[in-house]
Amino acid sequence: PALEARDESQVSRDEIETTNKALDQMSMHDVLPGCLNRRAFFETAVPSFQRAHEQRLPITFIMMDFDHFKSFNDNYGHQVGDEVLKVTARILTGGVRNEDVLCRYGGEEFCIVMPGTGGEEAARVAEQLRITIESRAAKNVRGLKDVNITASFGVCEFAQHKTCEDLIRDADEALYMAKEQGRNRVNLHKPTLQAVTA
Ligand code: GH3
Ligand code: MG
Ligand code: MG
Repeated sequence: PALEARDESQVSRDEIETTNKALDQMSMHDVLPGCLNRRAFFETAVPSFQRAHEQRLPITFIMMDFDHFKSFNDNYGHQVGDEVLKVTARILTGGVRNEDVLCRYGGEEFCIVMPGTGGEEAARVAEQLRITIESRAAKNVRGLKDVNITASFGVCEFAQHKTCEDLIRDADEALYMAKEQGRNRVNLHKPTLQAVTA
């Protein structure tokens, strides 16, 4: 525990426990609601990947990144940008299941791990999230009514990947393709054909 009782007459065990729980929460969670931070994410995602790998169960990673967020900040200010991130974090938490893991992967980049879910199904979830962000995110930030806020998604299901990092790299590559193809879209990673040897 981060705090040890030195003088039980001054600090009750309950208070220590409450404080330690709060410290745990802070060390795992991002400032955005419902999001793990990067470190906690890897602590959760890597074992999930390994379980899927060992038991040959489906698992899918979704990477999301806002479109042209730099110019959004330039136009509306960084603080309004932060509000957009908060509203979106709520949209994302509301759109995934309890067993899915949501993380703030970078500044305006999110990652969702969906254990037990295949690529096609995850792409449908991502498409729903994309539509909700496009139609609701700006409306939920004060003073932003008619602004377009969109995001792009890369989706990759576990296939030949040896490590969790490999799978993240392919989801990232799918996201990059979504950007290339014009943004505000979901792109499902196509597995490259393996060379067949006799
Ligand atoms: P693209 O469509 O290619 O993703 O364009 P982009 O401008 O969004 O490019 P990129 O994803 O590389 O840029 C990230 C921008 O997001 C730059 C930075 O100012 C902004 N950003 C990152 N973290 C935060 C944050 O916590 N709050 C706010 N308001 N902006 C952030
Ligand atoms: Mg980015
Ligand atoms: Mg971006």
